[in-house]
Amino acid sequence: DSIPPQSQLVVIGAGPGGYSAAFRAAELGLQVTLIDPGERPGGVCLYRGCIPSKALLHVAKLISETEEAESVGVRFAKPTLDVQKIRAWKNGVIDTLTKGLGARADKLKLTTLCGTARFRDNHTLQIATAAGEEGQLVFKQAIIATGSRPVMLPGIQTGKRILDSTGALELADIPKTMLVIGGGYIGLELGSAYAAMGTRVSVVEMTADLLPGCDRDLVSILKRRLDKNFNEILLNTRVMELKEQKNGVAVTFEDKKGEQSRRRFDKVLMAIGRRPNSEELGLDNTSIRINEKGFIVVDGRQRTTEVGIFAIGDIAGEPMLAHKAYGEAHVAAAAAAGQQSVFDPRAIPAVVFTDPEVAWCGLTETAAREQKIKVKTAKLSWRGNGRALTLGRHDGMTKLIVDAENDRLLGVGLVGPGAGELIAEAVLALEMAATGEDLRAVIHPHPTLSETIFDAAQMLFRG
Ligand code: FAD
Repeated sequence: DSIPPQSQLVVIGAGPGGYSAAFRAAELGLQVTLIDPGERPGGVCLYRGCIPSKALLHVAKLISETEEAESVGVRFAKPTLDVQKIRAWKNGVIDTLTKGLGARADKLKLTTLCGTARFRDNHTLQIATAAGEEGQLVFKQAIIATGSRPVMLPGIQTGKRILDSTGALELADIPKTMLVIGGGYIGLELGSAYAAMGTRVSVVEMTADLLPGCDRDLVSILKRRLDKNFNEILLNTRVMELKEQKNGVAVTFEDKKGEQSRRRFDKVLMAIGRRPNSEELGLDNTSIRINEKGFIVVDGRQRTTEVGIFAIGDIAGEPMLAHKAYGEAHVAAAAAAGQQSVFDPRAIPAVVFTDPEVAWCGLTETAAREQKIKVKTAKLSWRGNGRALTLGRHDGMTKLIVDAENDRLLGVGLVGPGAGELIAEAVLALEMAATGEDLRAVIHPHPTLSETIFDAAQMLFRG
């Protein structure tokens, strides 16, 4: 579309936050303009985040399952990979989903602009479209959903051999060796995908363990398998220097004792975190405040410090997850349409789509201890679960954390195949203020992994 002179509501950024807000606001009767550099809605999540990473992890799962089939008496030939076809399939998934979003935008009669926006003042945006058109747009209300981008080590830029998550997801080739810098979920997921496809993956993490924010007993189960799948996991180790050379990247490490070592890798993947896209927005020309990390400051209704301007998704703070963006989008769209709404979930689940998956929601045991909350926990190994054993996978654990005084469920942690799907029951239970007794009263289908939630609740009762 061409730049309209004015809009009732303008949404800047068309990731999961922006497109959800735009669709909802249009459904509520607002006239909406949606701006993003991408040709179709999708943002990081669809083009270079959640979706392509899960597509590659599916390929990884197929490979590891054929390898593991031997233990149950089925032998496959060693898998061979057609990288071009894997890439095309992954891109096809993205295409299907973004086309669907584009069609929905058309159906809802959104004005969509392919380009970028920058604030001139509290009511005006400067727009530059991909087609070269420049213009101003006066808006009544705005929702900022410009998301985030990868953080790089100081002085380091991406290149042919030094990749960020976007570069790694392009799957240019399958390198022989790869160093993943950062032991968070993005590094572990992408490292797992490459490792399954044949890359010798090393992971380096500056702190003492992987996946900060998750209970250690859950992480240790994942780590047992990662230790087998990865070439090595270097903890308490810093990357001091990276030099891109003709035949690889020379990396200097420093361990806890201050000892340095130097190694060469074919490729390096930088996965040390993400930062909000707030610098290029012209926020200085408005009264919108950002905090010291660059996130836009919002209240429970996603309102910024300027009347009529909202912010949602990664730009509005942690956790930087697509489902948090969806939730905030609905609140902001409703507020823009004059409805009462507030973002106040009891729990935002976190899922790491490694093998096994790790998922948690609500209070962790570690946080309970730090906050001196008296809790009772039940930790159930999946070794005795029929479904886990019939899947050939007993490397799992279900953990419930309840208030010691009133049995109210406070948090749930899961590790094992399918943990990402199972956590949804736990989120619902938390949202409905369930107790351990409520979980025991739910009839779970047999034989399923979900029975581990029921069985862990029984443990609470007995213990
Ligand atoms: P984004 O998706 O970042 O979209 C923002 C959009 O705004 C972009 O298209 C950007 O180009 C555009 N934009 C920026 N500036 C401007 C401007 N000035 N004008 C116009 N447009 C602008 N989350 C999960 O929940 N589950 C997962 O499994 C998961 N996996 C991930 C895997 C990877 C490798 C990565 C990188 C991220 C993953 N995430 C996952 C995080 C998830 O992608 C983000 O939380 C989510 O995309 C945030 O949505 P958003 O709407 O805030 O912004």
